[in-house]
Amino acid sequence: MTDAYDFSDRIERVAPSATLAISNLAAEKEAEGADIVDLSVGEPDFDTPDNIVEAGKEALDAGHTGYTSSNGIPPLKEAIAEKLRGTGVDADADEVIVTPGGKQALYETFQTLIDEGDEVVLLDPAWVSYEAMTKLAGGDLSRVDLAPHGFQLEPALDELTETVSDDTELLVVNSPSNPTGAVFSEAALEGVRDLAVDHDISVISDEIYERIVYDAEHVSLASLDGMSDRTITVNGFSKAYSMTGWRLGYIHAKGDFVGEAGKLHSHSVSCAVNFVQHAGVEALSNTDESVEEMRQAFAKRRDLLVDLFDEHGVDVDVGDGAFYMMIPVDDSEVQGTSDASGDEPRADDQAWCEAAIEEASVACVPGSAFNAPGYARISYAASAERLREAVDRLVANDLL
Ligand code: PMP
Ligand code: GLU
Repeated sequence: MTDAYDFSDRIERVAPSATLAISNLAAEKEAEGADIVDLSVGEPDFDTPDNIVEAGKEALDAGHTGYTSSNGIPPLKEAIAEKLRGTGVDADADEVIVTPGGKQALYETFQTLIDEGDEVVLLDPAWVSYEAMTKLAGGDLSRVDLAPHGFQLEPALDELTETVSDDTELLVVNSPSNPTGAVFSEAALEGVRDLAVDHDISVISDEIYERIVYDAEHVSLASLDGMSDRTITVNGFSKAYSMTGWRLGYIHAKGDFVGEAGKLHSHSVSCAVNFVQHAGVEALSNTDESVEEMRQAFAKRRDLLVDLFDEHGVDVDVGDGAFYMMIPVDDSEVQGTSDASGDEPRADDQAWCEAAIEEASVACVPGSAFNAPGYARISYAASAERLREAVDRLVANDLL
């Protein structure tokens, strides 16, 4: 039967999210009774802190169930602006749009800034949705590879300098980084600032992992001299407060940005969920202790994983933030590394990840999803016991 739909070029340019695809596959296998150690999706394994849950329930009981003003409820926009001022960003409540998740905040930003053929620069390995969002907006990608530099930006500044030009419209910075966990140094961010100012480039600073840092300090890009009115700061509640399913995030930017992006926001989602926004106020004002407990738990798990990989001779570039680690993988032990048709050799990391889930029942995301072939991304948002189990299974199946 011929498909009656004539799909847009825009939608045909992109593939489904690879991170979500692997976790869906893991969930399907579990539903069939398999015991999968799922280290694929980037989702904290903690419950949302009680005070936030209570605030959400109270907001429901108080009848906060209708639409809110499109850009968000005033107390939440004010709390976000105050939080940003705390990290040195010049912010007012009316410069904020509250979104259903950081992903929507990013989507609106790409749609607001990128025209057909505009150049968007990514720092690889880059989170999977930046590429898709660029393509959905019609932009063209240029990429700078941080992998040869231990995933750090500072040693790659020369390459970034060669890549950007007056034709560059947008640069995306994500520190702490998904998928590497790298936290970029202040000097690196100053390098970005110099280039952005020289070439009049807008910069997205995706700071969704800012509260999950270990032996480094997080710097908000918009706090640097010269960056205030060219940075779009994107953040969300999913990771810091373990609120992935609540869907809450935000954009902050100066000038006309909020007015322009607000058009798309109002025509697409109308507003973020009302009672969730009330819970967000509580998260920002009263949750430091729980955030710290989760941060310390992630730090211990990271150290455990590094030790376990070290025992098995796997050398990793250890990040100082988020809850991800990229491990180098190859398919030398994996049989049959071409696809069923036999003519398309798969990237080695894809074959490795397939063997990891099929043979070892461990789910990881192929580095190719982040434009980093030869690696697999491990999300260590899992208990110490499950992390040990994962490494044991990979070793038992000759995958490490
Ligand atoms: N940015 C990065 C780098 C992420 O890893 C995620 C994770 N999903 C997001 C944005 C969006 O998260 P959410 O929509 O759950 O706020
Ligand atoms: N950001 C998380 C990840 O990379 C959640 C899944 C997604 O939104 O892509 O795994």
